[in-house]
Amino acid sequence: MNASPQKQEPFVLPIISHARGVYVYDQDGQEYLDGCSGAVNVNVGHGVPEILDRMREQMDKACFAYRTQFRSDPLIRLTQQLVELAPGDLSHVEYCNSGSEAIEMTLRLATLRNAQAYRPFKCTVLTEEPSYHGMTSGALGASGHPLRRRHLTPLLANQVTVSRVRPKHGALRASTQDWEEAIHRIGPANLSAVIIEPVGGASSGAVPTAPETMRRLRELADEHQFLLIADEVMTGLGRTGRWFGCDHADVTPDVMVLGKGISAGYATISALMVSDAVVNELGQPLNTVLFGHTMAGNPLAAAAGLAVVDYLRAHEVPAQARHTGEYLRRKLDLLRSRHPIVSDVRGVGMQLALGLHPDPARFPGRCLDLTEAAREEGLLIYPAGVTPALESVLVTPALTASHEELDELTRRLDRALSRISSSPAVEEQA
Ligand code: PMP
Repeated sequence: MNASPQKQEPFVLPIISHARGVYVYDQDGQEYLDGCSGAVNVNVGHGVPEILDRMREQMDKACFAYRTQFRSDPLIRLTQQLVELAPGDLSHVEYCNSGSEAIEMTLRLATLRNAQAYRPFKCTVLTEEPSYHGMTSGALGASGHPLRRRHLTPLLANQVTVSRVRPKHGALRASTQDWEEAIHRIGPANLSAVIIEPVGGASSGAVPTAPETMRRLRELADEHQFLLIADEVMTGLGRTGRWFGCDHADVTPDVMVLGKGISAGYATISALMVSDAVVNELGQPLNTVLFGHTMAGNPLAAAAGLAVVDYLRAHEVPAQARHTGEYLRRKLDLLRSRHPIVSDVRGVGMQLALGLHPDPARFPGRCLDLTEAAREEGLLIYPAGVTPALESVLVTPALTASHEELDELTRRLDRALSRISSSPAVEEQA
């Protein structure tokens, strides 16, 4: 989340010196425990030797190869790994550099698919409010994130009609019925795609989509031939305790968009994984219809991605995240019981958040205050939530964090919570 309109004082960022595991150090010697994995992407911590060695090896061979001139061994092997891990028939992979670019490319794919089939009326993309899909104009246009869209309306894609489904009756995310009503309102024949975050991130603060909603959307997509697009930029590759967020609902989307988790912060790479059925419909390979980006899928980023995925497999990191997530959740529940400012603990696996009772006088307020207080305690957390009801902080450390590190994280968070409210931290209570 960007700085709120209320918080205008200039904040000078510290200069990073180095980082190891879950700890980051600045040039003034201050240590930070990274409780949100950067932007929920440094999933296996900093400085993992197995990953750095493989990157160094590739650097010596070739850092760059242009995607229309060469393939590369790490890219071929990364693709094989992703296809093996992904659900169903998602066997076609295109690479980009960021989550936003991959969402943007997916929007192009949805548009091209209907153009080729002479379905010009099938052009509405339905997303959720709250949601976040990226900062490029198509992706931001599709995002249900008013704060990030603010003042940018003239720039946002206006060729695609975006419609948004909103949760009703005080719920935090849209229900199956909300989605069905929205689809009915638009007219399913006009629908090009539905984009959904299986577990929310910055927009809702880790509120999950109900598995039955995912399954119903799958049925409706089949019935009415719109694409079901899962935005797994934050959830993909182990964050939720399964390989992919969709796995919790046993649903295979038509397109799955991956980002952060692929390279876990070691390089710049993202991907869209597309089903056989969609590629068959297109009648030609993806790379002949989707124009791409200069650096996309470069060998160095691919080597980083491959090393990360190998590491995740070798150490069974998604299963580890499931157990670690249970441990962390118990610790966060304790904080909730001690600090009335915490409304709830939510999320799946290691995609967790503390919901905060909003400050009636200003929004966003509490999540920024808590993030600042945590920083003063040497802890990094991520402010989230697009409405007062969703105000929260993401607590999403590396999937590989040890229990001792999570204990330390919770101690610092405890102290930060008592800084912004009157409830004492445990040490003060003792
Ligand atoms: N989708 C989701 C669900 C995300 O969490 C993000 C990043 N926070 C994006 C898309 C955009 O990814 P990027 O910042 O890499 O462009």
